[in-house]
Amino acid sequence: MRKPLVAGNWKMNLNHLEAIAHVQRLAFSLKDADFDALDVCVFPPFTDIRSVQTLVDADKLRITYGGQDCAKMDSGAFTGQTSSTFLAKLGAQWVIIGHSERRQFNNESNDDVSKKLVSALRNKLTPILCVGEDLTERNNRTHIRFTLNQLGQSLGNISKSDVSQIVIAYEPVWAIGTGEIATPEDAEEMMSALRNWLGETYGDSAASKVRLLYGGSVKSGTAPGLMAMPNVDGLLVGGASIDPDEFVAICRYRLALVGPRK
Ligand code: PEP
Repeated sequence: MRKPLVAGNWKMNLNHLEAIAHVQRLAFSLKDADFDALDVCVFPPFTDIRSVQTLVDADKLRITYGGQDCAKMDSGAFTGQTSSTFLAKLGAQWVIIGHSERRQFNNESNDDVSKKLVSALRNKLTPILCVGEDLTERNNRTHIRFTLNQLGQSLGNISKSDVSQIVIAYEPVWAIGTGEIATPEDAEEMMSALRNWLGETYGDSAASKVRLLYGGSVKSGTAPGLMAMPNVDGLLVGGASIDPDEFVAICRYRLALVGPRK
């Protein structure tokens, strides 16, 4: 009932010309059968989005796209920021909020994240809210408590009716861009804790609708094992999404699956 989602976070890679070539390659490789089986979205840098929009609209592509961050406010004197309103106007459907690189390099707090979620929802964007522990919490076995606390604070301003509109990405910081990856069992342990918490807080109906993604050094070889887990509904892919062949192979994880998830 939860359609799988594979999302490619390009980070600060690919200029607008490279973005066009990249999306054309994805569009050539991904078929209707792929889009029927899963949602695919890419997160280009802001400077690429108008070019991606033009291509997606002109060729009626089924690839969707979003922003890697958004401002809390819709407009005003906020030099260098980009609002959800503007992203929505460019046809974006998604926005990543609270990525660990923004928490680390831009000092974003859970309170900032919470306000950005409200802004995204106000503008009818689907937020992908990133949470996850660093290595110290993992080694101390406090990773679940830490991540649930981060989730609770980030969702502080979100109503019960809005929560099922949000996608949550569990991205352990120690796995992002490092080549280290959570095992499918580690990912499932966290995902089921997240879903149980959502159920206790917002009710089982809302919790069962929320898509939970795993992110952190995912490659085509590791995608099927992660996607075989019952509470892993998709993948947030960073470095590997820059290589179109690798990203397409990740989107085709289902070809390596057996059983009900295939
Ligand atoms: C990310 O940036 O969200 C991410 C998961 O990166 P990577 O796949 O490179 O670890």
